[in-house]
Amino acid sequence: MRAHRPSPEFPQHLARLYASFPFDRSLADDPISVLRPLGPDARRAEIAGVFGSTLAIGNTTAIRGAIARLAEIAEGDLARLVDPAFARERTRRLAGFRHRWIRGDQLDHLAGVLSDYYATHPSLEAAFLSGSEGGGFAAGLDALARTLRGPSRAPRGYRTLFPSPLDAAGSPCKRLTLFVRWMVRTGYPDFGVWPRVPTGSLRIPLDQHVHWIAYHLGLTARRTRSWAAVEEVSEALRRIDPIDPVKYDFVLCHTGISGDCPKHRDLAVCGPCSVRPDCRLWRGRGVAE
Ligand code: SF4
Repeated sequence: MRAHRPSPEFPQHLARLYASFPFDRSLADDPISVLRPLGPDARRAEIAGVFGSTLAIGNTTAIRGAIARLAEIAEGDLARLVDPAFARERTRRLAGFRHRWIRGDQLDHLAGVLSDYYATHPSLEAAFLSGSEGGGFAAGLDALARTLRGPSRAPRGYRTLFPSPLDAAGSPCKRLTLFVRWMVRTGYPDFGVWPRVPTGSLRIPLDQHVHWIAYHLGLTARRTRSWAAVEEVSEALRRIDPIDPVKYDFVLCHTGISGDCPKHRDLAVCGPCSVRPDCRLWRGRGVAE
């Protein structure tokens, strides 16, 4: 089958999609809407980001609900979870917590790993940079994943919550990549508290919505989400915006979540879609059809 490529005008089409996107409408559906009030300073943003991205499994309503339940356990301040003085009470309160396959004892262990890390480090940015400065983004993510995995003694299934592109290339490592996006980008709606990581080096958090539209726009020919697909989509976006390629992530993701894109040909919806000339579903077809 002939590879699908976006049209030569794709950068302009994508820019139009971005410029007209109703960010405020979709922000309410995004996990970061629950996280932003929990991150009034850099440390709290980082802690909120770690827990929020770890819980970013399933639909956005369930994710936002899980973050809200965790915030309630922490009495509105997720930084309390990594306070050694709160450790015993934290373990008790998290005992019955569950979100999909993520259990409270795993989050309790994560809080302990973070507590130990912050005893000697100001920020997880240093962990990411310890890998990325010599080996690029994937090595940075690997160093971050290893830091969050912590010591080898951990609750069942805990360490697999943090896959690395260097030892799990079949995974898009979406949750950690999303966490790094939140920390690095200063553009709306991200936190922008890691100033030493260039936005141009970011990779796309490839969830199912982003992958669907990236595949149908020809940004990757890969039908499955993998680290190789992450690299392809990120590189395609970097050719359009080398400074901030991942700024398009929110728009591509929420075009799917919101239903703006029906994921099938529907003239009423697709007719005005800015990227319709690039969409695989409309290849060789005009709106008059
Ligand atoms: S043309 Fe339709 S199916 Fe294709 S991306 Fe746009 S809204 Fe989605």
